[in-house]
Amino acid sequence: MQQVTANVYTDTTQRGCNPSFVVTSDGTVVIDTPQLPTRAVELRREAESRGPIRYVINTEHHVDHIFGNYYFRGAGPVVAHVEVARNFMLPSQNPSPYWYAKEALPTDDPEGEAIFPDEETYYRDPNRPAITFTEDLTLQVGDRTFELMYTGGHTAGQIAVHVPQERALFTGDTVFSECQTWLYVSNVDQWIAALDRLSGLDVDHVIPGHGPVTNKAYLAVQKAFLMEWVTAVARGVARGWSKDECIARISFADRFPVDVGQGHMMEHIQRQNVSALYDKLTAGLRP
Ligand SMILES: [Zn+2]
Repeated sequence: MQQVTANVYTDTTQRGCNPSFVVTSDGTVVIDTPQLPTRAVELRREAESRGPIRYVINTEHHVDHIFGNYYFRGAGPVVAHVEVARNFMLPSQNPSPYWYAKEALPTDDPEGEAIFPDEETYYRDPNRPAITFTEDLTLQVGDRTFELMYTGGHTAGQIAVHVPQERALFTGDTVFSECQTWLYVSNVDQWIAALDRLSGLDVDHVIPGHGPVTNKAYLAVQKAFLMEWVTAVARGVARGWSKDECIARISFADRFPVDVGQGHMMEHIQRQNVSALYDKLTAGLRP
């Protein structure tokens, strides 16, 4: 794993989110769990080698941040926003989160097949959030403080985690560092407000949901990219383009690669981003 500060570790090289942990004087705190089974087991071992896991924090409900919770059963309780609990691995989501986790195995984690639970076993105890909250929540663990900041934006229950003693900020998917931004279930206005709020923090290290570790300057890059997306689709609407015309004509595929292991999703991301923004921008125009 990459050591970001004396006590902050993350892994930006695997398919899924950037799972991380922080070492305190009274055990460790895991922030998002690896989607790939083998990586989840490894990260748990790594974290526990530095002290018992006191909490597992999920920054959002998307499968790439929560599926690995399964491999942390019996560790410290899972803490997340109430909307993460409400949307946790719902089979009705598209794509179905359980199947999305499963289809990654042959290419990205063949060894993980042996420890991948069947659907019934998985849903019996996926290690859901045990502690939920609705606004901000501060956890003091040993000598380290974890400010769980509810921002919304990318997803309804989106949070960031600020650890002031490490001058570190875990943004979750409020930041896609140097890779494609997935925004289809997002509230972009809230997302931009989230970036503005996080910009006010005094930190040196920004651990994004996806892509390489970065710094505070990248918050402005992410904000500009979101605004470009909205502007491109708003201009399409203003020209009288239909949704299909917007989808055919608008793409930011040349801007960034897709994060590790999901290159095949590029066209899907472009299409879904345009489609979601089109629906939001035209919602008030329909009879
Ligand atoms: Zn993600």
